[in-house]
Amino acid sequence: MRITLKPFTVHKRFPLTISRGTTAENTNLWIKIESDGIEGWGEASPFSIVKGSKINSEQLQQELTGITPSLERFHPLQRQEIETVLLDNTINSSLRAAIDTALYDWLGKKVKLPLWKLWGVTGDHPFSTSVTIGISSPKKAVERVKNWLNFMEVNLLKIKLGSPEGIEADQAMILAIREATPHLPLTVDANGGWTLKEAIVMSNWLAQYHVKYIEQPLNVGDEDNLSQLYQRSPLPIFVDESCFTSEDIIKLSPYIHGINIKLMKAGGLSEVMRMIAIAKACKLQIMYGCYSDSSLANTAMTHLAACADYLDLDSHLNLVDDPFQGVSLNQGKLMLNDLPGLGITLPN
Ligand SMILES: [Mg+2]
Repeated sequence: MRITLKPFTVHKRFPLTISRGTTAENTNLWIKIESDGIEGWGEASPFSIVKGSKINSEQLQQELTGITPSLERFHPLQRQEIETVLLDNTINSSLRAAIDTALYDWLGKKVKLPLWKLWGVTGDHPFSTSVTIGISSPKKAVERVKNWLNFMEVNLLKIKLGSPEGIEADQAMILAIREATPHLPLTVDANGGWTLKEAIVMSNWLAQYHVKYIEQPLNVGDEDNLSQLYQRSPLPIFVDESCFTSEDIIKLSPYIHGINIKLMKAGGLSEVMRMIAIAKACKLQIMYGCYSDSSLANTAMTHLAACADYLDLDSHLNLVDDPFQGVSLNQGKLMLNDLPGLGITLPN
């Protein structure tokens, strides 16, 4: 097979602030594999879970260029062998994700089936996704909620907390949003911005405001405190930054209620499927999340939407220059199409 790549920069309509900083744009890689006259497409979206440690797209391009000769000797059907080469060479998870996604896209096109049909999962109805409100002043947060409500039907709001200004700032934002939209269900994501004590205080406080769960309350490295939080939190606790792959799930499972699976962290749809199986065996709830991914990566995850309890696949909805067309919006929900593979096209 032949592998080619093209960097592309996406810009956010509204820059997103989380506890670690603000993102306004991201340069991602569009990766194509070609074999037997069929192209498969994937996306690598550089991300970081530690402030200031983000790998950039140039570094990803170098990594891919270095490994390309070892990969091009395979056929796209040799997915397991390809994954082994990528793992043995400690290739970045977002690149692995792009290649694995492209292999599945190729396979779907080869057998002329959309991936959801190929996998036998439900994909013929729309799936609800939450939309994200970043950290800001209470007034700006309410404006952003109104922007989303003007843009689409919203069924679930995800509020970024863990403000550097402390939990009083977090509470002020929630109160303002609650006043503007008293009945819209919420989830919150602290991105590791709280101490154990703050997380316990916030969980008890948030429990009165229709919050479904709290995502990543504690910082990476603070997992030993999850057991105490688990006993004292009235709200379910999900992990994101603390859980990259299936290997992380079992050791965390006694102290959490759910996990956030992301294509770029997992390193491919193959690993996403392993994570789903293990999470379900551990009786955990499952959400899917995203970084600054375009509709290519978010469409790939939507093909497995029927296996998740919650979707938070909204990054492409906040882009002004998404190069791709995949899932469409249907009453605030993501709807797959019936094209073979991922079903990604380029808009005219
Ligand atoms: Mg998160």
